[in-house]
Amino acid sequence: MDLGIAGKRALVCASSKGLGLGCARALAAEGVNVVMNARGDEALQASAADIRREFGVEVVAIAADITSVAGRNSVLDAVDGIDILVNNAGGPPPGMWQDWSRDDFILALDANMLTPIAMIQSLAPYMIAQKWGRVVNITSMAVKSPNPVLGLSNAARSGLTGFVAGTSRQIAPDGVTINNLLPGIHATDRADALDQGVMQASGITLPEAQKQRMSTIPANRYGTIEEFGAACAFLCSTHAGFIVGQNILLDGGAISATF
Ligand code: NAP
Repeated sequence: MDLGIAGKRALVCASSKGLGLGCARALAAEGVNVVMNARGDEALQASAADIRREFGVEVVAIAADITSVAGRNSVLDAVDGIDILVNNAGGPPPGMWQDWSRDDFILALDANMLTPIAMIQSLAPYMIAQKWGRVVNITSMAVKSPNPVLGLSNAARSGLTGFVAGTSRQIAPDGVTINNLLPGIHATDRADALDQGVMQASGITLPEAQKQRMSTIPANRYGTIEEFGAACAFLCSTHAGFIVGQNILLDGGAISATF
């Protein structure tokens, strides 16, 4: 299927590795020119070079912390005419409900709620003026089924989800869609870090921790960044203009629910 977005310009935040990289690669494979971002320059430049070489699209790589005002401004100052925005950032650390301070919450809210909202506020006006745009926020399956030790993530991502639910309906008349992709467990550094936490807490090996987690997923495996990127690219396609304000779960069936 031709997704109809060749030549468009996408900004994929937090995209040197993992799910963000999967999205940047899938968009580039469709002929989309991409602006990539991450804090660490080395991995970012390497991933950008791979995409340029493999897909022949224009790639701009901006090293910056997307969760800080200064980092966001350095990305926003370097881009214009963004048709497609993929919001992403690292997830908050696990912990226990009684230990989180106000500062911990502010950090999580900044990273996983207020940053994507600020990016939408900055970039959606151009999309609205063009009468076409796509925003995809990478959130988490935790929005539908909370993981208790990820309370900071549960809280911040639910806030973003509420914002998207209303705002997506306000800007849909202008041809701009906002949707959320909810990853279940995918094989990335983040999943590795969570498995290492289980390994240490339970005194088991890493493969045992992975096997244990996979057994909770009906597909009996972790998702791949390629699968995730393909779903993102479809949501960004010309065919997805009627998908508005949705929360789409990619979890291998892990959440057992009728809807
Ligand atoms: P990952 O493999 O650890 O990759 C994170 C990417 O984001 C890296 O490129 C990292 O590069 C970049 N990044 C992190 N913090 C950043 C910041 N402040 N500014 C700019 N770039 C930043 O993570 P992932 O698994 O792809 O996860 C992506 C998001 O999905 C996270 O919010 C995670 O919590 C959520 N999620 C993941 C899973 C999963 O199973 N993988 C499940 C549910 C939810 P630098 O470190 O160099 O900045």
